[in-house]
Amino acid sequence: MTRCDGRKKNELRDVKMEVGVLKRADGSAYIEWGNNKIFAGVYGPKEVIPRFLARNDRAYLRCKYSMTPFSVEERKRPGPDRRSVEIGKVTTGALAPAILLENYPNSMIEILIDVMQADAGTRCAGITAATLALVDAGIPMRGLVSACAAGKVDDEIVLDLCKEEDNLGQADIPLAILSRTEEITLLQMDGIMTENEVEEALGLAIEGCKSVYQMQMDALKTKYGD
Ligand code: UDP
Repeated sequence: MTRCDGRKKNELRDVKMEVGVLKRADGSAYIEWGNNKIFAGVYGPKEVIPRFLARNDRAYLRCKYSMTPFSVEERKRPGPDRRSVEIGKVTTGALAPAILLENYPNSMIEILIDVMQADAGTRCAGITAATLALVDAGIPMRGLVSACAAGKVDDEIVLDLCKEEDNLGQADIPLAILSRTEEITLLQMDGIMTENEVEEALGLAIEGCKSVYQMQMDALKTKYGD
């Protein structure tokens, strides 16, 4: 099967990552993943606002995902919506196990993910970029979180759906893996697949996450050396 953009079924889109791109954030990264263009900025550890969210045994982690109005085909109304709140929440869940939050009680780490251009797979690209921004901020990590989706298009299981495939797609499974512990920190699915198809898609997504991990390591080496 050839895909609409000519990729093989187990082939990722072109991915470029750059660490430390924003001067005023404590840590930052930029990712181009196919036609997705996303910035991630990290602030903190800093004072918790509002204060009642403070925990005396660990840092409070907050991830905010947002899309610019011009990031999508049909202009998006600025400001949060149900989808962005949900993605912020699952991103927090995907990243929290990677961070030594217990090192920073009574403080807060804030991660902002801003989508400049979207073309499906933005939550995975955002999680991947946010991980680099956390490292850039010097926040101690258990490992890197690498994310990638696989899904079903035209009755075929394929890696990393682009928007055109997402529109026709029958299912999509975004996945995030924490290196070292190899824990899965994000697993979602929309659509319908058989048990065998889910297994095949997960296999592809796991391989995809491994390639993403290598690219994250390369981006970090480019910035900081070996
Ligand atoms: N999208 C859109 N308008 C919106 C929200 C999403 O056009 O208001 C597009 C965008 O390209 C996004 C894709 O739909 O990447 C798939 O969205 P989904 O909710 O599946 O999340 P994602 O795949 O980006 O993690």
